[in-house]
Amino acid sequence: MTDRRTELADNLARVEERISTACDKAGRAREDVTLIVVTKTYPASDVRLLAELGVREVAENRDQDAAPKAAACSDLSLTWHFVGQLQTNKVRSVANYADIVQSVDRARLVTALSKEAVRAGRELGCLLQVALDAESGDTRGATGERGGVAPAGVAALADAVAAAEGLRLDGLMTVAPLTGRYAGRPGAAFERLMEISSGLRVNHPAANMVSAGMSADLDEAVAAGATHVRVGTAVLGVRPRLG
Ligand SMILES: *Cc1c(COP(=O)(O)O)cnc(C)c1O
Repeated sequence: MTDRRTELADNLARVEERISTACDKAGRAREDVTLIVVTKTYPASDVRLLAELGVREVAENRDQDAAPKAAACSDLSLTWHFVGQLQTNKVRSVANYADIVQSVDRARLVTALSKEAVRAGRELGCLLQVALDAESGDTRGATGERGGVAPAGVAALADAVAAAEGLRLDGLMTVAPLTGRYAGRPGAAFERLMEISSGLRVNHPAANMVSAGMSADLDEAVAAGATHVRVGTAVLGVRPRLG
């Protein structure tokens, strides 16, 4: 084993232990939580090692970084998630390799994703990114500090995705806010996301994915009921540059 492979294996084992412990405490089955490893800023060679170590789901947040990496790893059977703020001019590229876009937060993006999914002949899974730091009652898209639709805008955006050709509404995603009433309270933020998810599932019962929790707060996310956690640093190490 190379040093890097050992390092990744050790880190994965530690993250796995955290997820299992959190599942036990919450009375949840381990299979109910899926680990997505966020490989942004790290090379395709790391993605390859992770795949050998059993990772099946990876995430990226910048198309410039993700597109060549996904191409270099196209022989691996991986599910690719896109989790970054997405400009409409990158949608054509992202639609070629992403299986699930977790950062859908405005109607214009839905239109663009639909068009490019159809062009690529692919079905794209979509999660609505919810901005829990947005003003209550705000129904516009893309309002949060890091993107995201305000809770009051979720229902309309969900209907738009569900009606769009080439798109599949899979659920919700959030990043624990750094500002506003949920600042420093990731557990409370994730519980709020679960409530919004329950509301969503009344009209869209299949949209049951809840993506929440990163390296610092995956334990709180599993406790709240997240189905997917997105973990970067705890598996790959502190990122060499901002991302
Ligand atoms: C980078 C990133 C993660 C992973 O964050 P870590 O703190 O490195 O685990 C998760 N979600 C999104 C949207 C990200 O951009």
